[in-house]
Amino acid sequence: MTRTLIQNGTIVSLDPDVGELEGGDVLIEDGEIVEIGHGLDPSNAEVIAAENHIVAPGFVDSHIHMAQTQVRGIAGDWSLMGEYFEHMLGNITGLYQPEDMYLGGLFGAFEKLHTGTTTALDWSYPNTLEHGERAVDALADAGLRAVYAWGPPGDDAAKWWYESEVGLPEQQIRELYDEQIRDDDLLSLALGLRGPDFCTDEIARSDMELARELGVLATIHMGAACWPSSMYGEDYQGFGSISDMLGPDVNVAHGNHFTQEDIQHAVDAGVSFSSTPEVEMQMGHGIPVTGKVLEAGGRPTWGVDVCSNITGDMANQMRIGMQTQRMFDNQEILEANEEVTAVSLTCRETLEMATIEGAKALQMEDEIGTLTPGKRADVIMIRTDDFRTAPAHSPVETIVFQADASHIDTVLVDGEPVKRDGELLNPKVSEEYDRFVQSGRRLVSEAGIDL
Ligand SMILES: [Zn+2]
Repeated sequence: MTRTLIQNGTIVSLDPDVGELEGGDVLIEDGEIVEIGHGLDPSNAEVIAAENHIVAPGFVDSHIHMAQTQVRGIAGDWSLMGEYFEHMLGNITGLYQPEDMYLGGLFGAFEKLHTGTTTALDWSYPNTLEHGERAVDALADAGLRAVYAWGPPGDDAAKWWYESEVGLPEQQIRELYDEQIRDDDLLSLALGLRGPDFCTDEIARSDMELARELGVLATIHMGAACWPSSMYGEDYQGFGSISDMLGPDVNVAHGNHFTQEDIQHAVDAGVSFSSTPEVEMQMGHGIPVTGKVLEAGGRPTWGVDVCSNITGDMANQMRIGMQTQRMFDNQEILEANEEVTAVSLTCRETLEMATIEGAKALQMEDEIGTLTPGKRADVIMIRTDDFRTAPAHSPVETIVFQADASHIDTVLVDGEPVKRDGELLNPKVSEEYDRFVQSGRRLVSEAGIDL
């Protein structure tokens, strides 16, 4: 049995029963948190000294396209319905070879771990089974806890998007699931669905039925931009043909154009929402769904979405998502000619949306999302003795507003250290670096992207 004791830290458990502890310890046995308290017995344990550190659960990114990591820095001035559809879905994703999936996924996962995200849903566009296999290899090699979302192949936008009449490739999905995912402790499968926005009603339903049959999460891009009204002249139909199929195993990415009524229906049915505020605000998706989900009594989760565009650091999504929502809430009060005397969304709530709410959205709340005895040990340790974080009066506010990747000293996934003393431990970070850069250069040059 391996025993690890994180000793004498400021514990921000985010579990109401555990609370916050000054000078607290976290005892881990075989990857499971077994005890949180003061002065725990260090015998036979590897001790990680945590004084001057906040000890918190790792972030959960509920929506990211990790394979785009090596084409980062091309989409900063792109809109969704302009350049993104033309260059990314209609061009670059078709140029990916299996090794490009591997290298994007690997360094995307390294970026996640380095910036404190211990679990991510990787929304993937595998052109073939081999593309999918290499994308999953990357997640496994990086040591990230991950949900691999098998979405439509990226090699033919006309076939797989718009009004697609083709269902997801069931045989390939089953093969990948059985061979690489089903028995892996850190990996799980989801289906990345087009939903009624991007395929026929029949396909939207049959893809969903496949997810149900496999017993996996269905994650769907919906309600971003005015699509499909900009193309077909209809009002946005919301869940449309899948309205009667909603449940806690359904996740919506974006959802900007849903009506409050549709959101209420979805929240009542247990559907989770992934808000990716930074990308949505840039690319013309519309106002982030945060406010509507909160009003419906739910809580959205945060995601990075396209890392061809922005950093994979979840801290940015917490800050931007929260402050934007506060702005809208404040403005409503100001427009009623009143003064704002309290903020709406709190720092603790945004941190919970980056952790436990993400875990719930991925149906992993029994395993991760808080520091709780019985859960797996996905833990981050943040330095508070740096001049940019000290004196860290409120550990929650320090995590949300002051800490960046340079303060994340230690990261554990399933009890295994993947980052120590501020450095990732995986030798592939340096071993695969040149291939990663070459992959990105080839893709951008073959796609003819003019920068
Ligand atoms: Zn997306």
